[in-house]
Amino acid sequence: MNGSELAARVRARVAEEVRELGHVSLATVLVGDDPASHVYVGYKHKDCTEVGIESIDHRLPADASEAQVLALVRELNADDQVDGFIVQSPVPDQINEARVMEEIDPVKDVDGFSPVNVGRLWLGREGHISATPLGIMEILREYEVQLEGADAVIVGRSEIVGKPMAALLLRANATVTFCHTRTRDMAERTRKADLLVAAAGRAGLIQPEMVKPGATVVDVGITRTPEGLVGDVDKGVVEIAGLLTPVPGGVGPMTRAMLLENTVRAARARRGLLAFD
Ligand code: NAD
Repeated sequence: MNGSELAARVRARVAEEVRELGHVSLATVLVGDDPASHVYVGYKHKDCTEVGIESIDHRLPADASEAQVLALVRELNADDQVDGFIVQSPVPDQINEARVMEEIDPVKDVDGFSPVNVGRLWLGREGHISATPLGIMEILREYEVQLEGADAVIVGRSEIVGKPMAALLLRANATVTFCHTRTRDMAERTRKADLLVAAAGRAGLIQPEMVKPGATVVDVGITRTPEGLVGDVDKGVVEIAGLLTPVPGGVGPMTRAMLLENTVRAARARRGLLAFD
């Protein structure tokens, strides 16, 4: 399943909406000097430029206090020129990330990490949803993967991937199972999956014998190796799966595209064109 191609189409759709709205902006907050975070924030600005979204770059030093971060969040909440913003995760240890997420205005919370948006997702109400699972749902829709009644197994239970993925698959009437580090005999469960979403961040965790022939496999994992990026799914799975997302070129580009879409949704909500309940 080609995420890059679909992401290009999402970006074209977003660019059109941005033109209609006139001005849309996304601010990023980067605290400290985590190298991967710098790369991700750089992509976000590049992506914004491509679709005509204004991007605003805020950086704080690695020793910034929680009070400083919260003050910036409040400033962005109040700034009428800012439609949406993200605080890049992870933040340094002295800052309570959950506390920061709580402070973000839910309408501007384009990552969908604030408790209000997480609650809305589980309640089936309108709000912002984490970009990675949202992008996966777009891929599954594009490739017409049957979700109703399907056995879906998610490996990983993080707040940003596993859990919101489960909420969306439940909403689509799949039967959802989580596997995680304490799961006994994971292979027994993954082998039953019509849809397997691997989001553990362990290179090669999903071996061919753990996959049901013909299953749809979504590889969320990203591990940097000297040979480049690798996913959680072993290369041999391509022979067994019916559909598979590659790494790179699968979930990654869709995650990036969905953040842009969420930013447009924030802009629409702020202009009264979309109601969050
Ligand atoms: P995380 O570390 O917060 O969570 C990992 C989850 O996997 C945990 O719930 C843990 O219980 C489970 N897990 C770990 N090892 C396991 C094992 N051996 N067996 C079973 N379960 C195991 O990670 P995350 O933020 O959810 O990200 C997961 C992976 O996806 C990472 O590699 C991350 O880089 C990648 N990711 C990719 C994208 C993308 O756009 N492609 C977006 C977000 C995250």
